[in-house]
Amino acid sequence: NEGSGGEGKQTVVVPEIKFTKLFINGEFVDAASGKTFETRDPRTGDVLADIAEADKADVDLAVAAAREAFEHGPWPRMSGYARGRAMSKLADLVEQHIEELAQLDGADAGKLLLLGKIIDIPHAVQMLRYYAGAADKIHGETLRVSGKYQGHTLKEPVGVVGVIIPWNFPSLMFFLKISPALAAGCTVVVKPAEQTPLSALFYANLAKEAGIPEGVINVVPGFGPTAGAAIASHMDIDSVAFTGSGEVGRLVMEASARSNLKTVSLELGGKCPLIIFDDADVDMAVELSRLAIFFNKGEVCVAGSRVYVQEGIYDEFVKKAVVAAQNWKVGDPFDVATNMGPQVDKVQFERVLKYIDIGKSEGATLLTGGKPTGDKGYYIEPTIFADVKEDMKIAQDEIFGPVMSLMKFKTVDEAIEKANCTKYGLAAGIITKDLNIANKVSRSVRAGTVWVNCYFAFDPEAPFGGYKMSGFGRDQGMMAMDKYMQVKSVITAVPDSPW
Ligand code: ADP
Repeated sequence: NEGSGGEGKQTVVVPEIKFTKLFINGEFVDAASGKTFETRDPRTGDVLADIAEADKADVDLAVAAAREAFEHGPWPRMSGYARGRAMSKLADLVEQHIEELAQLDGADAGKLLLLGKIIDIPHAVQMLRYYAGAADKIHGETLRVSGKYQGHTLKEPVGVVGVIIPWNFPSLMFFLKISPALAAGCTVVVKPAEQTPLSALFYANLAKEAGIPEGVINVVPGFGPTAGAAIASHMDIDSVAFTGSGEVGRLVMEASARSNLKTVSLELGGKCPLIIFDDADVDMAVELSRLAIFFNKGEVCVAGSRVYVQEGIYDEFVKKAVVAAQNWKVGDPFDVATNMGPQVDKVQFERVLKYIDIGKSEGATLLTGGKPTGDKGYYIEPTIFADVKEDMKIAQDEIFGPVMSLMKFKTVDEAIEKANCTKYGLAAGIITKDLNIANKVSRSVRAGTVWVNCYFAFDPEAPFGGYKMSGFGRDQGMMAMDKYMQVKSVITAVPDSPW
């Protein structure tokens, strides 16, 4: 159960890995091709497990199972109450295995064990329970149509849903997408990210234990251009829910257009502004800004990567922010004293370092960090750039790493203009005690979520999604159910209507 962390070093805990095969029609199976791929531990770069590698042939089998479960299985036909009961049972089982699951995500994604236990997995459980409760609250409308007719709408499950998710929140993403789909009565084929397949397979097994019928949840780990593309272009998937990069989001949409016009929802990342006004408590602002960018090593689509500070407190803020970044402890994510683990893999590690080089060459001032740290694994120091200009790449591109870009502003209008100057529109943060400023800015910022005097305050009740090129469609909230339902109008003749 334990691997070596190197001579004289703290031992790296490696969790037991029980599930490494594809989950199709209620069974764990090898890939049709027999191929496997390696998932690695970002703390060391070592192989954690060989995972069955799904390809088009496996996606076809998974979709066939999901189709059969949808057309003839009990899931869409049982009462919403019964679906909700099964989902609640799954939530209970997830809760019972929280330690094991947090370890899997910790080793697979370099995610802090503690965060997994107090944030990711509890939130995933909450999501499941929220939608379990929604499963018997799906209502249509009664329509007072003109003439001798009456009408009503039926909300029906859309059918087979393809889910393609990224690696930064393996547990949360899984349940964020499948919970409303399951509540609606859909069946799903999920492709977890190739970097982080472990917890999704564990959840598949728990779903079986919870009594969710075969074929309702299928999990097909594999790569994007093969397994992912097979989902996006499948002729028998009715809807695809995607979270990931803008480039791949476009491919998913194109694939839908070229195949069967399946509905698409895309959540595509961000470059989120955190705007701090002169009246803010500077210590609180420093703390929040540190969390906003360094939480989960900056591998967060809503990371507060652009920090705008008003000129009156700018100098004090900068001094304190640097100290705060230097006190943000980088290390083994299984150590409770650690604030930030390694980037998820070598590719991301190198990508973040490349952006740090770009920042330097663009003329931004590197205040702290900027280098890899540790003698193995993909660790990077918390990094802050000042004097960043809006047209620099480090102010425009989603870096997806622990890199804060600091900028100064004078007026409220200037802050709004700058906040809106990227192609993204996922989230924004505002720190001020002035209600009028808070209200004006929250209405002016083109983003799907605005946090006022807080950051990362997530709740299953609050719809989540993007404006502009951060995508479209909403996760969370009752709105998310609409992605997975069709609306049917039924008009009935009433020849003897008295009106
Ligand atoms: P990230 O940069 O966060 O890794 P990606 O958009 O590359 O984001 O990946 C998000 C998800 O999309 C992953 O599950 C990945 O395997 C999948 N993916 C990558 N390429 C494709 C593709 N061509 N078609 C469908 N899915 C893809």
